[in-house]
Amino acid sequence: MSDINLIKNKIDVVDLIGEYIQLKPAGVNHKGLCPFHHEKSPSFMVNRERQSWHCFGCAKGGDIFSFVQEIEGMEFREALKYLADKAGVQLTNTFKNEAESSLKNRLKNINYDASHFFYNFLLKMESAKDARDYLQKRGLTQDTIDNWQIGFVLEQWDLLTQYLLKKGHSIDDLVASGLTIKRDNANIATKQGFYDRFRGRIMFPIWDVHDTVVGFTGRVLIETDKSGGKYVNTPQTALFDKSSVIFALNKAKKSIKEKDFVVVVEGQMDVIACHQVDMTNVVAFSGTAVTAELDLHKSDAEQQKKQIGLLKRYTNNMSMAFDVDEAGEKAARRTISLAMSAGMNVKIIQIPEGAGKDPDECIKKNKEVWFEVVKNASEVMNWYFSRAFINKDINNPKDKQHIASELLDKIQHIPFAVERDYWLKELGHSLGVDISVLRDDLVRIKSEEKIPVEKKNFDKNIETKTINLPESRLNELVKTFLVLFLRFYDFIKDTPNLFSIDLSLSTGKYNELYEMLKSRYNKGNKDISNFRDYFSHENQENIIDVLLMQGEKDFFGFKENEAKNEVKILSKRIYEEWLKEEKNRIQNELSLAESKGDTDKVDELMKRFQSLS
Ligand SMILES: [Zn+2]
Repeated sequence: MSDINLIKNKIDVVDLIGEYIQLKPAGVNHKGLCPFHHEKSPSFMVNRERQSWHCFGCAKGGDIFSFVQEIEGMEFREALKYLADKAGVQLTNTFKNEAESSLKNRLKNINYDASHFFYNFLLKMESAKDARDYLQKRGLTQDTIDNWQIGFVLEQWDLLTQYLLKKGHSIDDLVASGLTIKRDNANIATKQGFYDRFRGRIMFPIWDVHDTVVGFTGRVLIETDKSGGKYVNTPQTALFDKSSVIFALNKAKKSIKEKDFVVVVEGQMDVIACHQVDMTNVVAFSGTAVTAELDLHKSDAEQQKKQIGLLKRYTNNMSMAFDVDEAGEKAARRTISLAMSAGMNVKIIQIPEGAGKDPDECIKKNKEVWFEVVKNASEVMNWYFSRAFINKDINNPKDKQHIASELLDKIQHIPFAVERDYWLKELGHSLGVDISVLRDDLVRIKSEEKIPVEKKNFDKNIETKTINLPESRLNELVKTFLVLFLRFYDFIKDTPNLFSIDLSLSTGKYNELYEMLKSRYNKGNKDISNFRDYFSHENQENIIDVLLMQGEKDFFGFKENEAKNEVKILSKRIYEEWLKEEKNRIQNELSLAESKGDTDKVDELMKRFQSLS
């Protein structure tokens, strides 16, 4: 058996896709919201029997390999390796060598070696004692250090680079991994002029959702003028794409799905502190540390949209905790509006004054307080209200207007009228203003704001255009005919004269299938069981699967007789439509031949035309 089939036998398509999206049984299939385009009602279907999937909204489809390629942005070889590992299948050498030798896989191996180097350094080296003391002081247990593979590297120029070179990695790959930096005057031959990006730092590996180390965050142990920032991260590499990495999602995803909500905190230490006290549905965005760049460029927003899209695979409910300072709140407001635009329910976690400045500190002071504030997180509108009134005097008309404008702006984005009305009343009540005044204001704001809500641009990059080209009427009829024929084959295979036309010379999408079915049917060959294999091509969706899925969707409750009747009617309409198109075509050719004075051709065409009438 080939590697591919071996893997397919071990990984079920419904289970695999179910790890990414919620699937519900629908007839013989499973159904869910398509992860590749935005939709409100599910048109994404998965079939266990045929091990295939198809979306009727964006027309994507295929098998487990194409799904992983699509959703993880992997190439075929990468997906093959990934699924082989998952299935516990040893790839035969040809595949294995190709997969192993790709740059991404070489970088994975480098990061793997580097994380072990850092971790062992922390555990075993005398010179790492200060780092161990520091982590202990911050309350990290040995279990946590093991579990998160926390490490350390001394303040020296090229300790890691030398180690990785000895392990057999090439200097080019080390530079590509972001772990090694190349000086302008570097010499590849002598390997002079290269140094470590991370020096004198506590090292935190960053994993992708599949437990692969894709990068690192280094926190400086002793801050000096030369240390260059409290936190340093792996830059963008072939392996590390910040926008597709959420810190700790690999460890938290199961718990997020089970609890159906995620807690988003700001820093990696906050995440680790939560997991250490067994709150495991906690993540932090982007793998950047507390010092996240706060002048929010457009690209940052794009990046965060992608991250929110990633989170949405696991839950629609998100509770956020953030540092209560101006920068923290600004960043949080952006995240909140992006998450709300993406259709997430957002709550705000507020740590009471004196209980700690961040989750890490709060847990250290009293973990019960932290559990309590997470449980009692407030609806985002309540939070907006409480923030809007801070330092404002509602007897001052200017302040009053300020509050009203700010909150009306939030209220107008609420998609549900009843809820909107509720918050309008709240606002009127709090300000002592008549609600009709606020309603007028709201209408005015809404009409002024012509800019569509961000929803439209959300996940632009994974949004796919519908690729269903407009098909000819004949093609449409043939398609529906084939759908019925394949789905109800057992009922209608004995009905005579169903294939009414000759499509062998035309180029429509379904012609080959139509002609093949016709020839078997005419020969009385009733077995179409090996038919599907004929149309299965590596890395391409099987046309039979798509048609069968369409049949299960459109004709689910159809009875034997209904199917028989429908297919007869279709056969007749196909003939009529074909006749019409044929006659049109001949007439066009006729006028062309006449204009050229080609009498032989004219005669021939006339005969053909008459034979059709
Ligand atoms: Zn789709």
